[in-house]
Amino acid sequence: MTSTPFSATFTRNDAAKPAEERDTILANPGFGNHFTDHMFLAEWTPETDWANARVVPYGPLQIDPATAVLHYAQEIFEGLKAYVHEDGSVWLFRPEANAARMQRSAHRLALPELPIDWFLGSIKALVETDRDWIPAGGEKSLYLRPFMFASEVFLGVRPSQHVTYSVIASPAGAYFSGGVQAVSIWLSSEFSRAGAGGTGAAKCGGNYAASLLPQQEAAEHGCAQVAFLDSTEQKWIEELGGMNLYFVHSDGSIVTPELSGSILEGVTRDSIMQIGRDLGHEVVERRVSIDEWREGAADGTITEVFACGTAAVVTPVASLKWDGGEAVSGDGEPGKVTSDIRSALVDIQYGRAEDRHGWMQRI
Ligand code: PMP
Repeated sequence: MTSTPFSATFTRNDAAKPAEERDTILANPGFGNHFTDHMFLAEWTPETDWANARVVPYGPLQIDPATAVLHYAQEIFEGLKAYVHEDGSVWLFRPEANAARMQRSAHRLALPELPIDWFLGSIKALVETDRDWIPAGGEKSLYLRPFMFASEVFLGVRPSQHVTYSVIASPAGAYFSGGVQAVSIWLSSEFSRAGAGGTGAAKCGGNYAASLLPQQEAAEHGCAQVAFLDSTEQKWIEELGGMNLYFVHSDGSIVTPELSGSILEGVTRDSIMQIGRDLGHEVVERRVSIDEWREGAADGTITEVFACGTAAVVTPVASLKWDGGEAVSGDGEPGKVTSDIRSALVDIQYGRAEDRHGWMQRI
């Protein structure tokens, strides 16, 4: 069945937050705490295909206790941002890449694929409606969270025959409000995030549920994030709980673990491959072993390590810690290559640099 072209109905929120309250939130939004006045909703069934696209007042969803997602976690999501440029125009960064990844995630979770024009249409409809909720200045943005879940009321284990798609939006402050800070990473030796043939390459809630216990372990060791190895050999670096990794080598090349089937293909990771080349670096996707990280950090072959993802853009990694040891990269300050790549990307997102690759989409 071909889906109908995207078009949405609109119901205004008559109880929208007063401008003064909203502006107080926007002055210091933090991350994930506050939500805009509206949300997007649509539903899918085999009979209707995607239907009922609507922007409605933000509010609770009523969920029957037997709703499939609560039992079998058939759920996927995305994360992207809307940015205000200095002239007041509003832009998205590579939203088609998120739309395509959501389709890949849907396929793996046996959910119906959302057409690309529906994904883009839903995001634009919500951002246009809640335009006044996009914080300006610094590295602030409006974080957009599209998600899709099994909403059939049925306890059988099979793909849901009723699926709900929604988008919510949350104003986000600068990830590093006091200047970019390097973080320490904990190497999880007991747990994997994803296994061969599993759901690691999909952005599904279950992957994040599985990362919480090792994340707790990381926090107990004073680390901000967990690094996961492959589940088969426990030898190859995969990624962090919510970010991909890059290694800067002393010969100027930048290396990122190749997609293994259990790594999430980050939009930021992909963009940095291009930006790295634009800045004159050789960019390599290949397997990176944990021994290469440890030894490279010790002998200076690896000069900088950084993590990347939509939320923090680029985060310098100061050290990797494990039970009984630590590998320190650089001198604890964000390295030059890391900083240059970070600035190049942020400057494109905020309209301060030329968008050479056609990544920005105006709303
Ligand atoms: N890996 C994981 C596990 C993530 O959750 C994310 C955040 N979506 C990333 C990598 C980075 O992806 P992106 O650059 O698309 O935000």
